[in-house]
Amino acid sequence: MANDVKNLNKRVIPFSPPDISELEIAEVAEALRSGWITTGPRTKELERRLAEYCHTSKVVCLNSATAAEELNFRVCGIGEGDEVIVPAYTYTASASAAIHTGARVVFVDSQSDNTEMDYESVAAVITEKTKAVVAVDLGGIICDYDKLYAAVESKKSLFKAKEGDDLGARIQQAKGRILVFADCAHALGASRNGKMAGEIADFTDFSFHAVKNFTTAEGGASTWLDIPGVDNEEIYHQYQLLSLHGQSKDALAKTQVGAWEYDIIGPWYKCNMTDIMAAIGLKQLDRYEGMLKRRGQIINRYDAMCDEMGIKHLIHSGANFQSSNHLYLTRIPGASDETRREIIVKLAERGVNTNVHYKPLPMMTAYRALGWDIKEFPNAYSYYENLITLPLHTCLTDEDVDYVIENYREVVREYMK
Ligand SMILES: *Cc1c(COP(=O)(O)O)cnc(C)c1O
Repeated sequence: MANDVKNLNKRVIPFSPPDISELEIAEVAEALRSGWITTGPRTKELERRLAEYCHTSKVVCLNSATAAEELNFRVCGIGEGDEVIVPAYTYTASASAAIHTGARVVFVDSQSDNTEMDYESVAAVITEKTKAVVAVDLGGIICDYDKLYAAVESKKSLFKAKEGDDLGARIQQAKGRILVFADCAHALGASRNGKMAGEIADFTDFSFHAVKNFTTAEGGASTWLDIPGVDNEEIYHQYQLLSLHGQSKDALAKTQVGAWEYDIIGPWYKCNMTDIMAAIGLKQLDRYEGMLKRRGQIINRYDAMCDEMGIKHLIHSGANFQSSNHLYLTRIPGASDETRREIIVKLAERGVNTNVHYKPLPMMTAYRALGWDIKEFPNAYSYYENLITLPLHTCLTDEDVDYVIENYREVVREYMK
């Protein structure tokens, strides 16, 4: 009988569906009817509004965070012969974007019991070849950039800026130290010490992939801090060239009377944002503050549950920071990898779809093939081993949240006896 009742009430809670309202749908329809569907006025408007939101001078919208991170490296002249430091504990894109440029990735372990990189390890692996370090604002929580900048400053004497007078060389020379990149794929809207994600690292990338807080289906953006002596318009133009075939005129400029001729100044990439994607983004941005707030309410419920059960979880807000409330990571005390897998299956059988953020990169075939071994990253492994990420999104009703909490409590308690 009890079982029958349970089945009657069974819900299916998806892990992270996109929250698309009639507003986005209407704006996409308008973009489609407007006669301009690729990069154009809506993309430029989204760039302007995102820059305003992040308190930066310029934003470039692209087709993914991976492309945005890669172009950040390329604009800064980072590539073959260079080394880029990346946390072992992240998604592959944080590392693969550097690899695409020809740079060598150097992984560092996490701090104990934390998703953040160990900043002493960062300083320890810096060599004369190191050009950049990528911080990942995991779950939407901004890292301790004061410590990261201090680690980079402590090895300033090793830094060798690129020679020459191309844009990348001039950026490296102006900074005079290893560049700090932020992978803010999760962190649009997060803040720390009064600064928004985007105005902390030298260069930042955001993701608008379908599972992220803010979506354009696929999409991403770059932004950066003003660099004394380097014109933001020149930097912006370089992103346009890199993302549109190295073509000297974009499609919009070619619509001017008689303006057919263009040059190709580099055999570059194709990763621009379309106005259809930007249409989704414009309406997501209108709704974003409300979406962040709703995520915060769900986090408060999960926090209360975890604190009562003695479950460790990410802390999304404090006196000097507010995350973008992107991911809810929980860690089952004492659980092994095997136990954690069992719990995930049991929750899934009850319709609660969970996830794991992340299986550390040195465990993945591609990075093992490059010579990395998880044994060198014990903190990353122990963080991963007992981790379960709960569904956290704005399509969850209060009843859905009740259902997740009730089932998590019942299933996990069995393993905590
Ligand atoms: C999703 C994600 C990315 C990649 O974003 P795309 O827009 O899919 O390229 C990069 N880094 C992290 C940490 C992510 O979660």
